[in-house]
Amino acid sequence: MNHFVRALAFAADKHKNQRRKDAQITPYINHPIDLVNVLVNEGGVVSWDVLCAALLHDVIEDTETSEEELLAHFGKKVTAIVKELTDDKSLAKDVRKRLQVEHAPFASHEAKLVKLADKICNLRDMLSNPPTGWDLKRKQEYFAWSAAVVLGIRGTHSKLEKVFDGLIEQGKQLQ
Ligand code: NDP
Ligand code: ZN
Repeated sequence: MNHFVRALAFAADKHKNQRRKDAQITPYINHPIDLVNVLVNEGGVVSWDVLCAALLHDVIEDTETSEEELLAHFGKKVTAIVKELTDDKSLAKDVRKRLQVEHAPFASHEAKLVKLADKICNLRDMLSNPPTGWDLKRKQEYFAWSAAVVLGIRGTHSKLEKVFDGLIEQGKQLQ
């Protein structure tokens, strides 16, 4: 609990100048909080390590945060999960996207849970608050890529996978 609140404050501070890509330029921190909401209230997930990692899942990738900093504040377990969820931004985008699909099956159970929640939240955003300037084709490609990542982590959490599948169905109605 203490770690969780510290992770919430840490993520809020690190993301404080960032916005999502939607028309309302929603504060970025809404996204990690959405993940926690999905994990707890739709998935019944109670692991503090998973919930802390969900709050922190984008800090190394998208903010000036080092692995050492996370280790010092949140310890080895949470840091390891966040690292598993961090894409290597020195790689080209298409390579990063391909590696997510290839690596997902080998992630830890904890990282797979966060990944599932991340994909659920991003598909919901894509349906109701999409990034500005994305045409139908680009959204459809994003749905297809998300489905490919989640295919590799089937068997992690049946309830959350059903939630995800419902969103894929809704994505087919996009026009
Ligand atoms: P990006 O990874 O750049 O953008 C999607 C990511 O942005 C999400 O994973 C999410 O990541 C974050 N995000 C921020 N705000 C939102 C929001 N409101 N809704 C949803 N996600 C949000 O995607 P790509 O540029 O890689 O595009 C996806 C697909 O589109 C690819 O398959 C690519 O091939 C294709 N593409 C098409 C182009 C075209 O013009 N047709 C051009 C470029 C790519 P997080 O969880 O980390 O916040
Ligand atoms: Zn995310």
